[in-house]
Amino acid sequence: MLLVFALCGSAAVWQVMAAETTPALRTKEVPLLEIVHPHADPFQQFPESFPLQVAVFWTNPGPSPENPLPLVHSLKEMGIPFFITRDLSQALRHHLVILYPSVDSHTFTQFQADQLTTFVRQGGFIFAQNVFWGGLQNLFGFRSFAPSRKRYHLAFSATKDPVTKYLNRPEERETQLGSDHFPEIIWSNGYVPRAGSEVVAQFDDGSAALLTNSVGKGKVYLLGLSLLDVVLRNQNNRDYEAQRHYVNSFEPGADVWLLILRAWYESYGTDWVRLATIPGGKRSALLLSHDVDWENSFAPGLDFARVEKANQASSTFFVQTKYVDDANSKAYFFAPKLDILRRLKAGGSTVGSHSIIHSRGFNKFELGSGHETYSSYQPRGLGFDTASGATVFGEVRVSKELLDGEIPGQDTTFFRAGHLRVPVSLPEALERSGYHFDSSFTADDVLSNFPFALPRDLGFEEDSEIYEFPVTIEDEESPGFAQRVPQALQVILANAENGAVSVVLIHSNESVLKAAAEQDLLRQLPSDIVKTDMLTFARFWRARDRLQWSLTATSVPTEAVLQVKSDEPVVGLTFEFQRAIATVTGGATMFPDNRHVVLPELAPGHSVSIHIDYLH
Ligand SMILES: [Zn+2]
Repeated sequence: MLLVFALCGSAAVWQVMAAETTPALRTKEVPLLEIVHPHADPFQQFPESFPLQVAVFWTNPGPSPENPLPLVHSLKEMGIPFFITRDLSQALRHHLVILYPSVDSHTFTQFQADQLTTFVRQGGFIFAQNVFWGGLQNLFGFRSFAPSRKRYHLAFSATKDPVTKYLNRPEERETQLGSDHFPEIIWSNGYVPRAGSEVVAQFDDGSAALLTNSVGKGKVYLLGLSLLDVVLRNQNNRDYEAQRHYVNSFEPGADVWLLILRAWYESYGTDWVRLATIPGGKRSALLLSHDVDWENSFAPGLDFARVEKANQASSTFFVQTKYVDDANSKAYFFAPKLDILRRLKAGGSTVGSHSIIHSRGFNKFELGSGHETYSSYQPRGLGFDTASGATVFGEVRVSKELLDGEIPGQDTTFFRAGHLRVPVSLPEALERSGYHFDSSFTADDVLSNFPFALPRDLGFEEDSEIYEFPVTIEDEESPGFAQRVPQALQVILANAENGAVSVVLIHSNESVLKAAAEQDLLRQLPSDIVKTDMLTFARFWRARDRLQWSLTATSVPTEAVLQVKSDEPVVGLTFEFQRAIATVTGGATMFPDNRHVVLPELAPGHSVSIHIDYLH
């Protein structure tokens, strides 16, 4: 800069030139990583290891397979143990069996159909979707079915069925499958029940969406929808606008199917065990975050951090690293604002990236080369949603270079897009730049309040390395957050009933009203809801999602061994048991209800064995 001054020799020119010159910021190199593909073979990825596992019989492995990813998401998020197989006899040695994704006249031989019927008659339980074969009509309790892309709503019946035990709220008793602005939405199969079977849920045309049929000592459930359409399609935001709200409301449209699988497992499993969604035996978690996307949003951040500390909480600050002037704002990512970030980080807050130019057109950006770097990347917002020189890689990679370079001890792994605009290449750009976590969707928009693995290219084939934590509550919708605390609390409590989480986003552009409102919310929060920053919970969720565990019986009928191995350090992993427990060993802690066990802190790569002594 001195050189520029010397060469120009005029203060007026100096100012113009200085604005055009990249300010001197410290960077840390961000290596460009290769994409890691999971096992191509789901049988290897999810092998049989203990009797309590649900057996998933994969009905469609080829030649154009519909992979089990939607079911894998559902079972893993609910902490239900499972394995995947093509061996029907192996599957039927387990008490609970899921047939996925569909059953037609080519799926089973008559002999296998008889095996399935005998299995249920003798006390087995099957959950299946889209059974079309006449050879299994009797077992699944339907007379006929009609495919359609014009069923927009679904309602659960008033009759109490065990699988609907978690569906107690109106938003759960009725869901929307797509917006009627579309002439056609997802495929559904409306069933006509046989005498003796029961309708658990029905479509708007009166046909059955979920049927159950008791046969002998066992029972089957049949769903006329695919989890691909009602879970994964919502999560990757490829749905037909099925959400009833965009943000700030309770929208469990995808969660109801996860909760049904959970209730099915808990109702019909014998001595079941489940990996809980929340650490430390708590009921839910409130994940706090702030977006710093204006030059005056830094200093109030300190007020929020103070309020959070005083209320035994902390938060994640998503920072826009604005180092260029453009049509939207002047550059502001420099001292003294960087000092504030360093103070926040030193005080226990965590920091994520909120891009560089915060463009409303981010979802239309090119992916870029992956070699974008601070010295050469010069993006500019031009108008409402247009930009020049900007790429997805540039926004995520260069912002990480700067945050990691300017904040001691910082390794940026969390991203949130400006205006929550999400390009399909975002998972790839994030994982190849060393991120682990994203929070760029709203929970209402993806119809789910559980974190989930973000599929690569927002598709249906495989997960990326990134986990998504969608925003539940934000502060800008009218009336402002300060007037919506009671409403926010209702949404948080609705999620807590399901073991789901709530993500709160408060822009730190002012702290007088908003920090008081946040304190109001924190003080009203029940003590069994964890209040934490997003990064801490996200690390827990990642370790939980990758956990290997098994529960095996011993020669003593009242004892079992829980074996757990984590690739990552993790605190507070909790298992929920159906059967009451007397004592546990191995440094685990039992809750007073005798049914929740919290593991000791796990070191990466280490296994622990917990001996369980049941009460009876
Ligand atoms: Zn923003």
